[in-house]
Amino acid sequence: MNNNKINILPTEEGFYGNYGGQFLPDELKAEFKRIYDAFLFFKDDVEFNNELNYLLKNYAGRPSPVFFAKNLSQKYGCEIYLKREDLNHTGAHKINHSLGEALLAKKMCKTKLIAETGAGQHGVAIATAAALMGLECDIYMGEIDTIKEKPNVDRMKILGANVISVTSGTKTLKEAVDEAFIAYSKEYKTAMYAIGSAVGPHPFPMIIEHFQSVIGREARQQFLEQTGKLPDCIVACVGGGSNAIGLFNGFLEDNQVDIYGVEPLGKGSAVGDNAASMTYGKDGIIHGFKCKVLQDSDGNPSNAYSVASGLDYPGVGPKHCYLNEIGRVKYDVINDDEAINAFFELSRYEGIIPALESSHAVAYGIKLAKAHKYKQILVNVSGRGDKDIEFVLKKMNS
Ligand SMILES: *Cc1c(COP(=O)(O)O)cnc(C)c1O
Repeated sequence: MNNNKINILPTEEGFYGNYGGQFLPDELKAEFKRIYDAFLFFKDDVEFNNELNYLLKNYAGRPSPVFFAKNLSQKYGCEIYLKREDLNHTGAHKINHSLGEALLAKKMCKTKLIAETGAGQHGVAIATAAALMGLECDIYMGEIDTIKEKPNVDRMKILGANVISVTSGTKTLKEAVDEAFIAYSKEYKTAMYAIGSAVGPHPFPMIIEHFQSVIGREARQQFLEQTGKLPDCIVACVGGGSNAIGLFNGFLEDNQVDIYGVEPLGKGSAVGDNAASMTYGKDGIIHGFKCKVLQDSDGNPSNAYSVASGLDYPGVGPKHCYLNEIGRVKYDVINDDEAINAFFELSRYEGIIPALESSHAVAYGIKLAKAHKYKQILVNVSGRGDKDIEFVLKKMNS
């Protein structure tokens, strides 16, 4: 395949190959066109980019470093490097797209941000951006997640956001998205939907991808500066796929770099026990776009589960589905126990406590290192694990 085709933008209708698109109620179509037009204008606007870059640097703390994990490397006989998104303000990659979305909302004269959140990381990042830019903020969160991720609920409230606990269905991310979208449909004239991953109806996947691509741009340059070459392979965890697509975009056209997306296998391969949409999903439509969707025997989106709340989404970003189909990215799985082991490995060997989401990527990086196929592996540490500490300790003691 022609290299230029790999790093594609979606079509006007928002399709990456067979995936993506915009399946929306009629009354929202005009508004989504306005968002698309505003995005196309502002992404190339000098003033917008100056403002965003100032915030990324002086507020979020970018660039995040690439760190050579010497101790882990010694243990496994392979060079492991970490892209440190955990060091960003608010502790994960989500601040990258949140600042972008909030700035875009400001430019569109919106006064409120509406968002869903799983682990609470996106909610915190959006509440942070809303506080910074003087916007109101409503965050929808599954009731189970509000209990599991209480520190993040407290942070959102301190930041001035309204946290709405969602009690329908499995009381996790999928229902939070549903409820947030219903609320947005009623308030779209004054509010902006601020989606939390590279998913949703067009143009949201491309907006999130655009704002997260800073990860891969930085990582490629930093890796070249430190080692004089590109990594043999790169690894990121995939929930909806925003941290992964952000990293991958920097390397898609480097054919010598193998790329791995890591999905959560949770407790196993049975329906409802995992959130590995690419691995076990079938083509379907969820939340306004076409992708691989985990489905029950009736073809409805099934429950998704992972020990990492930020990964338990039954769909996956459309560009990932395309990259999977053309074979440019390999998608594989890591289960709960492997992720928790990696959580401790990185903590004890490098003094870095990763998020449980990121621990999936770390676990897979270690797996690749053990296989001795590659000399240099770059792993995206999408976020820090402070939010998971209480949960992991409880699980250990139970
Ligand atoms: C939300 C989250 C993820 C999963 O989201 P993606 O859109 O797939 O990146 C991964 N890691 C952390 C730390 C998160 O907070």
